[in-house]
Amino acid sequence: MAQWFALKAENPDFLLFFRMGDFYELFFDDATTAAAALDIALTARGNHGGEPISMCGVPVGAAQAYLSRLIRRGFRVAVAEQTATPPSKMPGKKAKTAQKGPLPRAVVRLITPGTLTEDELLEPGRSNLLLALVANPSRRSVTEWGAAWIDISTGQFETARCTETDLGHLLARLDPAEILAPPDRDLGDFDLRRTSGEQPPPAHTARARLAESFGVASLDAFGTFSDAEAAAGLMAVDYIRKSQAGSLPRLAHPIPQEDSAALGLDPATRASLDLLRARDGSDEHTLFSAVNRTVTAPGARLLATWIAAPLTVVEKISSRQACWDWLKDDTPRVNTLRQILRGAPDIDRALGRLSVGRGQPRDLAAIRDGIACGHRVAAELTHIAPDTRPDLIGKALEQLNDCGPLCEELDRALADELPARLDDGGVIATGYDGELDAYRTLRDDSRRVIATLQNDYAQRFGVASLKIRHHAQLGYVIEVPTAAGTKLRTHEDLSFRQGTTTAARFSTEELIELDSRIAEAAERASVRERQVFGVLVARALDDDALPPLARALSLVDVAQSCASLAVGGTWCRAQVDDSESFSLEACRHPVVEAALGSGTRFTANGCSLAPAHRVMLLTGPNMAGKSTFLRQNALAVILAQAGLPVPAKSAHIGIVDRLFSRVGAADDLARGRSTFMVEMTETAAILNQAGPRSLVVVDEIGRGTSTLDGLSIAWAVLEAMHSTLRCRAIFATHFHELAELSESLPRLSPHTMAVRDWKGQVVFLHEVIPGSAKRSWGVHVAKLAGVPVPVVERASRLLKELEREHAVAPAPLPLFEDIAPAPPEEVETNSSASLSDYEELVDAILTTEPDSLSPRDALNALYDLRKLA
Ligand code: ADP
Repeated sequence: MAQWFALKAENPDFLLFFRMGDFYELFFDDATTAAAALDIALTARGNHGGEPISMCGVPVGAAQAYLSRLIRRGFRVAVAEQTATPPSKMPGKKAKTAQKGPLPRAVVRLITPGTLTEDELLEPGRSNLLLALVANPSRRSVTEWGAAWIDISTGQFETARCTETDLGHLLARLDPAEILAPPDRDLGDFDLRRTSGEQPPPAHTARARLAESFGVASLDAFGTFSDAEAAAGLMAVDYIRKSQAGSLPRLAHPIPQEDSAALGLDPATRASLDLLRARDGSDEHTLFSAVNRTVTAPGARLLATWIAAPLTVVEKISSRQACWDWLKDDTPRVNTLRQILRGAPDIDRALGRLSVGRGQPRDLAAIRDGIACGHRVAAELTHIAPDTRPDLIGKALEQLNDCGPLCEELDRALADELPARLDDGGVIATGYDGELDAYRTLRDDSRRVIATLQNDYAQRFGVASLKIRHHAQLGYVIEVPTAAGTKLRTHEDLSFRQGTTTAARFSTEELIELDSRIAEAAERASVRERQVFGVLVARALDDDALPPLARALSLVDVAQSCASLAVGGTWCRAQVDDSESFSLEACRHPVVEAALGSGTRFTANGCSLAPAHRVMLLTGPNMAGKSTFLRQNALAVILAQAGLPVPAKSAHIGIVDRLFSRVGAADDLARGRSTFMVEMTETAAILNQAGPRSLVVVDEIGRGTSTLDGLSIAWAVLEAMHSTLRCRAIFATHFHELAELSESLPRLSPHTMAVRDWKGQVVFLHEVIPGSAKRSWGVHVAKLAGVPVPVVERASRLLKELEREHAVAPAPLPLFEDIAPAPPEEVETNSSASLSDYEELVDAILTTEPDSLSPRDALNALYDLRKLA
C-alpha cells in the first residue's frame, strides 16, 4: 500500500491501474469510481485506518476494453506496472536468488484522450488530436494565440497562430480530443475536453527546448513560429513525454500552418453543415459519409482533413482535383486500385505504436504489407504516360516505390504465422538469426529428449500410465496416479515433489538438469528474439521514406474515392478561379439525396449569384426545401475548394474567402441564451466579418421576435448584405414583403420554391424558380403534420378573415441609403394652429399621390407635411 500511496500522490487526477500479477487493481476512491463506471464488482481487502480498503480489478488481458470505456467517459488513467520479473516467472536458478518482498512498480504510462496509441482506443478514420493553446504575452490589447496540435498515433505535428475570433474556428476545425489551455479561457462547447493544471513553458526557453527535442539547432529549420506557437508546441511535447513516462514517441517535426490559405468557416457554420459529425453527434448523414469511398483508415483521415479545411488558393485546389480527374473515366483501374488498397494496413498508426514501445509483431507485419501494397499501387500508376500524370500523382509514384530493402528485410525476418504478442515468442522466422536459431534448437532438442524419457521411465519404474508434464511452479515432473505414487515414494532415484488427491509428482536429477537447460535456452531465445525485434523496429522507425510512402498511399486512396464518385458524370470537377462567379448547374444536396433512398428522386437545382444579381432572396413555405437548397450551395463551395467532386452537372466558383451558413440555428438555450439572442449574435458575426469575396447563406433571420421587429431586422440585414458588404448571398425568409425590395435593390433576385395546389392539397416540387411566394401554406403543412382537422379548419377560416383585413400590401419603406439627412433641429411648433394652417395641411395631404412617389419623394413630402403642421 505504501507503493500505491506514493504513485497515487504523483498522479492525483488519474485513476491508478496498479498491476498485481495478472490483474490491474484499483483501490479506495479509484475503486469506487471505476467499479461504478465499468459496472464491475467492488470488494474490499485489508484495512487502512481501521476501515476496509475498497478494491476492484480487471484482468490484464481484457484491460483494453475497460480502458476504452473509462477514456470515453472522460476519465484519465495512470498505469503502474511491475518493473521486475516475479520469481515465479524466472527460470529455476534465478528464482531462488530473487529478493523477497513486493516487486518494484512504476507508472509507465498516462492514458488521456489526447495521448492514445492503441487501436482499440482509437477511431480508425479520425485523427486524434492533442491541442495546446498559449496566449501571446507580448500583445496586450488584441490577444493572439499560439496553437500546436499533435496526433501521437500518427506523429502529425502542426502549429498555427490565430486571433481570438479565429480560435473558435480552429477549435471547430480540429475537433481535438484533449486541450491544454489556460484555466481562465472559456472554450465553449470544448470545455469538457480541457486538461487543467499544465503550465505553459516560459517563452524564452521554449524555442530552444523544442528545437532540441527534434535534434536541430534552431526552429527556423522548420519554418517561422511565433513565441506563443513555440511555447504551445513545447507544452504539447512535454505533456506527451510525461504521458509516456519520459520517452518521446516519434513525431514529425512541427509544421506551421498559414491560416490565410484556408477557407474561413466559423463554428456556427460548421455546426449547421454537418461536415464530419452530424448535429446529433452521429457519424451518419454527414458530408463526409456522403462522399467517402475510401477503403483504408489513413485515406479516410486524409479525406476528413480536406473536408475540415478547404483551401483558397486556386493552384493548390486544381492540383488536388487533377489527382482524381484523370482516373474518373477509367473504371477498371479504379477497381484495381480499390482492390489493392483494401489490403493496405495503417502504417502510420503501426509506426506510432512501435515508436512508444507498445508495438506488437502485427505492427511490423503492417509495415511490411503496407510497403508491398505501395509497390503494387505504384506498378498500377506507372501505366499512365508520364506527360499526362498529374503532379501530385507523379510525386506519390516515386514515394510509393521506396522502402524496398526494409520490406525485404521484414519479409525474411518475420515468421509466417505471427503470434499476437511479442511475449508469446515465435515472431522471428527460423533461418534469419543464427544465435536465435541455436537457442531454439537447444530448447527444442531438450524437449525432445524429455519426450523420449517418458517411455524409459514408464518401463524403469513399472508404471504404464506414467506421464512427464510441465508444471508452472515445479517445471518438468513425473506424474503418476496416487496409488502408484505411494509405491514409488521410497525409490532412491526419485524425489517426491507434490501429491494431490489423484496424482503424485516426482522429479529426477536428469529431469531437473534438462528442465533448467530448457528454461535457460528458452530465456536466452526470448531475450535474443526481443533484441532482433528491437533492431527491426529501429530500422522501420529510421526509414525516412516510410511516412511519405504512407501519405502517398492515403492520397491514392482519396483519389480513387473521388474518382469512384465522379464516375458516371453525376459529380463534376468544379471550375475554381479568382473571378466573382457563382454558378451551379443542377446541383444536389449529397446527404439529403443519400437519405431519400432509391424510391424518391432528388430534384436538382441550379444557382447563379453572378455579380449582377449576387443576392438571392428565397421565399417559400416550410417543408418546400429551402434549407436543403441553402445548404447544398454551401456544401458545393466546401467540396469545390477542398478539391473534391461537386454533386452538380457543372460548377463555376470564384474563390470564396469566408463561408457563413446560418440554417436551422442550433438551440443554445442550455447555455442561457434565448433563440433570438443566438440568432442576433450570429447575424452580428456575419455583418462584422463578411466581405465581397464571402458567401453567406442564411435562413429566416428575424424569426425569433415579433413580426414587425423581425421584418425590420431582416430588411436591414438584407440591405446591408446587398449594398454594404457586397457579398454573394442566399437569403431565405418567410417575410414575402421583402421580395418587393427587388425594385430598389438592383442586385437582388427573388426566387421561390415551386408549390402546386392540387385539389386544395399542397404539393412540394422542391424546385427553385424565379419569383416570390404568394402564400405561406402554413395551414396545409399543419394538416400534413397531423394537427387535428377542426383546428386546421378553424385556422384556415381565421386566415381568410385576416387576409381580407390586411388586403392592402404594405407600401415599400425607404432604403437606409436613401434616407435624407436628419431634419433641422429647430422645427417650429405652434400649439394654436389657425384654421387656414389646418386646411393647408389637409390640402397638402390630399394632393399627395402616394402611388406615384418614389421612396425619396415620399420622405421629402413627409418632411414638408411636418413643417406645415
Ligand atoms: P424547408 O427548409 O423549406 O422547411 P427542407 O429543406 O427542410 O424544407 O426540406 C424538407 C424535406 O423535403 C427534406 O427533408 C427532404 O426530404 C425534402 N426535400 C428537400 N429538398 C428536396 C429536393 N431538392 N428534392 C427532393 N426532396 C427534397
